[in-house]
Amino acid sequence: MNDCIFCKIIAGEIPSAKVYEDDEIVIFKDISPVAKIHLLCVPKEHFAYLSEVNTARAELLGRTLHKIGKMKEQLGLSEGYRLVINQGENAGQTVHHLHIHILGGEPLPWGK
Ligand code: 5GP
Ligand code: ZN
Repeated sequence: MNDCIFCKIIAGEIPSAKVYEDDEIVIFKDISPVAKIHLLCVPKEHFAYLSEVNTARAELLGRTLHKIGKMKEQLGLSEGYRLVINQGENAGQTVHHLHIHILGGEPLPWGK
């Protein structure tokens, strides 16, 4: 996946402000934050859409949500946070490597 910016970040070819990494996910700061805390949680395996999720990836995503939930204090999100997964054109997905936006650090307005 040579042209994928997140694969390049995962490989260390593009710098990023990493806040967490293990064997299957990485969490780094979004370069263009829309909230006081705006992190991106990215599975190391390249796939673009939830429609590509098989059993193994479903388990990976389940473990990922479990990890995010356990890390809320260390990520500065004890007052609450929002997870967003943009999928496709109408959602404005720009990076086609599945990722979870983690938003928090302040009260978040609700909207589309
Ligand atoms: P999407 O719109 O696909 O859901 O989200 C992609 C996100 O990746 C955007 O919020 C954008 O700011 C972020 N992003 C794009 N390129 C880079 C980059 O090179 N480094 C970092 N840290 N974030 C990026
Ligand atoms: Zn990728």
